[in-house]
Amino acid sequence: MKKNVFGILAIVVVLFSFSLVCDVVWALKNVCPECCKMVKDQDLTQCPFCGKVMNKCLICGQINPIKNDHCASCSASLAESRVSRTISRDIREELKLGESDRSKIEVELQQIEQKVLETGITPELVARQVELLTLMGWWSLANTTANTFSQQFPKAEQNARMSICRVIALRNLGFLALQENHNEIAIGYLKTALSIDPKDSKAQNLLEMAGGTK
Ligand SMILES: [Zn+2]
Ligand SMILES: [Zn+2]
Repeated sequence: MKKNVFGILAIVVVLFSFSLVCDVVWALKNVCPECCKMVKDQDLTQCPFCGKVMNKCLICGQINPIKNDHCASCSASLAESRVSRTISRDIREELKLGESDRSKIEVELQQIEQKVLETGITPELVARQVELLTLMGWWSLANTTANTFSQQFPKAEQNARMSICRVIALRNLGFLALQENHNEIAIGYLKTALSIDPKDSKAQNLLEMAGGTK
């Protein structure tokens, strides 16, 4: 009897977390991952502002209208394509880093932790840690670690790389806050991002969406 209750509880928890994930993905759908502008016409396949193809299936390559949640050609879920595309590929390009899957990144993060224990902290080790945290999409940790880095090593050559990571992390924190209708929090993150890089057009667009430019 007790076992049954736990089983049902587990199913409820799984379904609930699923619905959370789907919500996030749904909200991501009509915001262009390239320029961060909202696209109203969901029958389009490309962003009308920057031309980015927005709903390409990573399984078969079919280009789908923005509104589709499943590929018109192979029926694969497009939610996964959207998430892996926005998190990994664009950020890899932005950071100018090569391909490496998540399990390899996790191994490298552990290696860095071990090296810090053995040889102590160095700017290069922390900088690499920040890049990997950014690639993993751990925005909050990437942001605070990069911030601590610039205070700890203000003259290190890695500071330019750290700024890029911090802007990406803050922009994504802003985006997530915006999705939850926490506009004031979003505005805070986005303004911090723009104080680091005033020309970051994605953060500018999100700030406008959050009502932070009025
Ligand atoms: Zn766009
Ligand atoms: Zn497909």
